[in-house]
Amino acid sequence: MKTVYAFGGGADHSDPRQKDKAVTGGKGANLAEMASIGLPVPPGFTITTDECLRYLKQGADFTADLRQAVAEAMAHVERSVGKGFGDPADPLLVSVRSGAAVSMPGMMDTVLNLGLNDATVEGLARAAGDERFAWDSYRRFVQMYGDVVLGVDHGLFEEALEIAKEDNGYLADTEMTADDWRALVAEYKALVEREHGRPFPQDPQEQLWGAIAAVFASWDTDRARTYRRLNDIAHDMGTAVNVQAMVFGNMGDDSATGVAFTRDPSTGERVYYGEWLVNAQGEDVVAGIRTPQYLTRARREAAGAAALSMEEVMPDTYAELAELFDLLERHYRDMQDIEFTVERGKLWLLQTRSGKRTASAALKIATDMVAEGLVDERTAICRIDPMALDQLLHPTLDPDAPRDVLTTGLPASPGAASGKVVLDAATAERWAERGDQVILCRVETSPEDIGGMHAAQGILTARGGMTSHAAVVARGMGRPCVSGASAVSIDLGARTLRIGGRDLREGDIITLDGGTGQVMAGEVASLKPEMAGDFATLMEWADRHRRMRVRCNAETPDDCRTARAFGAEGIGLCRTEHMFFEASRISAVRQMILAEDEAGRRAALAKLLPEQRSDFRAIFEVMAGLPCTIRLLDPPLHEFLPHADADFADLADATGLPAERLRARAAQLHEFNPMLGHRGCRLGITFPEIYEMQVRAIFEAACDVAQASGAAPLPEIMIPLVATARELAILRTLVERVAEEVFAERGHSLAYLTGTMIELPRAALMAGEIAAEGAFFSFGTNDLTQTTLGISRDDAGKFLDCYIDQGVFARDPFVSLDIAGVGQLVRLAAERGRAARGDLKLGICGEHGGDPASISFCEEIGLDYVSASPYRVPIARLAAAQAILKAEKLVAPGG
Ligand code: ADP
Ligand code: MG
Ligand code: MG
Repeated sequence: MKTVYAFGGGADHSDPRQKDKAVTGGKGANLAEMASIGLPVPPGFTITTDECLRYLKQGADFTADLRQAVAEAMAHVERSVGKGFGDPADPLLVSVRSGAAVSMPGMMDTVLNLGLNDATVEGLARAAGDERFAWDSYRRFVQMYGDVVLGVDHGLFEEALEIAKEDNGYLADTEMTADDWRALVAEYKALVEREHGRPFPQDPQEQLWGAIAAVFASWDTDRARTYRRLNDIAHDMGTAVNVQAMVFGNMGDDSATGVAFTRDPSTGERVYYGEWLVNAQGEDVVAGIRTPQYLTRARREAAGAAALSMEEVMPDTYAELAELFDLLERHYRDMQDIEFTVERGKLWLLQTRSGKRTASAALKIATDMVAEGLVDERTAICRIDPMALDQLLHPTLDPDAPRDVLTTGLPASPGAASGKVVLDAATAERWAERGDQVILCRVETSPEDIGGMHAAQGILTARGGMTSHAAVVARGMGRPCVSGASAVSIDLGARTLRIGGRDLREGDIITLDGGTGQVMAGEVASLKPEMAGDFATLMEWADRHRRMRVRCNAETPDDCRTARAFGAEGIGLCRTEHMFFEASRISAVRQMILAEDEAGRRAALAKLLPEQRSDFRAIFEVMAGLPCTIRLLDPPLHEFLPHADADFADLADATGLPAERLRARAAQLHEFNPMLGHRGCRLGITFPEIYEMQVRAIFEAACDVAQASGAAPLPEIMIPLVATARELAILRTLVERVAEEVFAERGHSLAYLTGTMIELPRAALMAGEIAAEGAFFSFGTNDLTQTTLGISRDDAGKFLDCYIDQGVFARDPFVSLDIAGVGQLVRLAAERGRAARGDLKLGICGEHGGDPASISFCEEIGLDYVSASPYRVPIARLAAAQAILKAEKLVAPGG
C-alpha cells in the first residue's frame, strides 16, 4: 500500500486511492483531482492518513519506508519546479498542510516557506531579485514554525514586531525594509532559542520532519478531540499531511492571494463571493492584519468600499479565475470554496472543497442546481444535511443585530430566545401565566422543572452536558437551551445570578443562542421560522421519495399544530403523564397516587376524567383523522410525589386527610429505583381504574369529535413497559371492554388499535408472542437503550463524554441508536413480530426517531413510520427520503 502520493508536475494520478478522502484527506484528494484534470496546482505530495495512525500508535517514530517514499516524492517536486530543497543557490520552499477526511478547524495550522535558513534566504533573495521579499518570507517562516511546531507563544513574535515598528517609527508592516526584516529574523531566532531551549533548526530536513510530526500529533490534541466529539466525527481516521511547493502572492503588485466561494455561502445566490489581497501571503487574508478587498466589482460597490476589487485591478487574471470557478463547480457539481494565489501574474489553485453554507443557502443552491441541470432531484435531496434544517426551524438571531455576550456554554438545543431571567420553575410558570417571556436559569434541571421549562422561552444551566436532562427535554420541546455554562453562578437566596463577572437580578432580560451557546445581555432581535420557498420545495421532493411515514411526539394541541405545519402525518407518541404535570391537575394526580384504597383513587380520577377528555378532544380535532398513538400513563412515581411542606398542606386541604398521614403514604410509595419500579403497565394492572379512566376519556373524546366533525379520529392505544404477552392480554381486554362500554353509551363506534411499546429486552425477544396480543409495536428506544445497556439516561452525562473519547461508543447512544446492540433487538423484534402477525404496524418513538443515522436503520428494517418531536419532523422527512436514495445508490450498478 502506498504511503505517499505525488500530485501535480506531471505526476501519475491514476491510483483511485489517491482521490479517496479517507486515504489522502479532503485537501490531498482534491489537489490530486485538480492536478489530474490539468488545473494549475503547485506540485507536491500527500502522506496518507494511515501513516498518521501508525505514527501515533507506534510512539512517534517514522519508518524507513516512509522516509524513503518522502525522499522520492520530494525529488519529484524538485524536478518539476527545477529547484533543490535546501539548495542555497535557488532553494525549493514548501508548505506543510494538514488535511483530514472532513475539514476540521481543531487541526494544525499550515506552515509556509519551509526550507528557509540563513543560507537559503540569500539564494531566495538572489533568485527573486528581491531581498525584502526573501527576508519577509523568512521571518514569517520562523514565526509560523516557532508557533505551530515548537510551541512558542505567537504573541511574543507579534510583540517583537510591534517594538521593531515602533523603534523605526513605522505604522504598517509594509514600511519594513529588507534590513528591518533581517534584524527581526535575528530577534525571532533568539526568541525561539530562549523559549524553546534550542536554536531554530537550520537543516531543511529537520524542519520538514518536525512539521510532519506536528501535523500527525495535532490529530490527538484536546482541541481536535473536542471538536470531533461535538461534531460526531470518529477519532480513528487520522489526518493526512500535504507538502507542496510554495508559490508566492507576496512578490509585488502583480502578486496576490485570496479565497472565494462560487456562490454566496450565506444566501446561496449565484454570484462569486470572496476576498483577496495584493502582495500578500496565505494567512494574511484571514489573519486580520490587513483588511481584505472584495473580489468582484458588484460586491465592492454594494458595500461602498473604496479599495478596488480583483475584477478591477487584475481583469485578465480575474477572468481566468472565474472560468476556473465555473469549471470546478461543474466538475464537482457543488458550490466550491477555493483558495488561490497569483505569483507575478500567474494563477495557482491551492485548495478546493465543497463550501460550507447556511441551511437556507444549502436549500437554494440545491434547488437552483436542479433547475440548472447540474444535479438531479435525488442528488439535491441527498446534498442537504438534515440536521442543518434545525437552523431554519427555530427563531434565529438576526445576524446583523449587535450582541453583548456574557458567556458561552454548550449549544444544547438550537434556536434563539430572549426573556426575563427566572431562577426556579414555579416562578417561570407564574410569570409566563401573566404574559412574561422568561428564561429559566438553573444550576441544572430535574424532572420537576418540566412545567417551568415548558413555560419558558429558553433554558440556561450552569452544569450538565449535551445529553443532560435540560438538553434532552429542551430539544424535545423545541426550546433553545444553553447548558453547562460554568461561568454562571446562581444565588437563590438573593435572587441574583452572576455571569462571567457581571451581576444580574431575576427579571433582567437576557438572550440565548442555543445554536452557538452564547448568552447575551438584553434583547437581541430575532427572525421567525417558516417553511416556504426552497425549503418547501425540497420537502416536497423528499416526500415523493420516502417510504416511511413521519409522525410526531406531541401532547398539546399547540405542539400538534406545529408538527402538522411541518408535515407530521400522525402522532407517534402522546405521553399522557405530561398532561398531568399542569399545575391545576397535579393535586388531583397526587390525590390519586396517595389514595389508600380504590375508592379514594376513583374519587381523584373522577376529577381528572373531564380534563383528560377535553385534552384528547383538542388533540383529535387538530389531528383531523390522522392516526394518534396515545400511551397510557407511564410515570416514574417519584416525578409526581409531593416533596415540599406546602404541597402536603395543599393536599391535606383537598383531601381532608392529615398531612402526616399523606406524608407516611408518600414514604411508603418511595422506590429505590423508580425507573424500574411500579410504573407503566404494572400500574395499569394493579390499579386498573387508572387506565379505565384514560381509555374512557380517549373514546369519549373520539366519539365527540367524530360526531361533531365527521372526521373519525384514529386512536392507537399504547400500553407501556410490557415485558410479557400476558400483561398486554390483560390490558387489551380492559381497553376493549371500556371501548365497548363507551360505544354502547354513545351509540357510535369507531376503529382503533391496541398495541404496545417495545422498551424492554424481554419484550423484544418475546415479540412473537406479544404480537399475537397487539396490533402494533412502537419501539421506545430511549428506555430500550437504558434497559439494554443498563445505563441511566439521566446519569450518563457524568461518564459518556469520556466513553465517547475513548471510543467505547462512537456516538451518544441516547442520541443515535446503538445499531449493533440495541438495534439488533429492534430488528429481531420486528422480524419476530411480523412473522407472528403479518399486518403488525411498526414504528419508533424514541429520541432516535429524529436522528438521521437511526432513521436510515429504521428504513433498512422496514418500519412503517418514525416519530419525532415537532421541530424534528422536517428533519425526519428528509432523512427518511435520504435513507431510501442512499440505499438505492449502494445497489446501483457501478455506483
Ligand atoms: P487551512 O486548512 O487552514 O485552510 P491551508 O493548508 O489551506 O490551511 O493553508 C492556508 C493558506 O496557506 C492557503 O489558503 C494558502 O493561501 C496558503 N498556502 C498553503 N500552501 C501554500 C503554497 N504551497 N503556496 C502558497 N500558499 C500556500
Ligand atoms: Mg485552506
Ligand atoms: Mg418508557
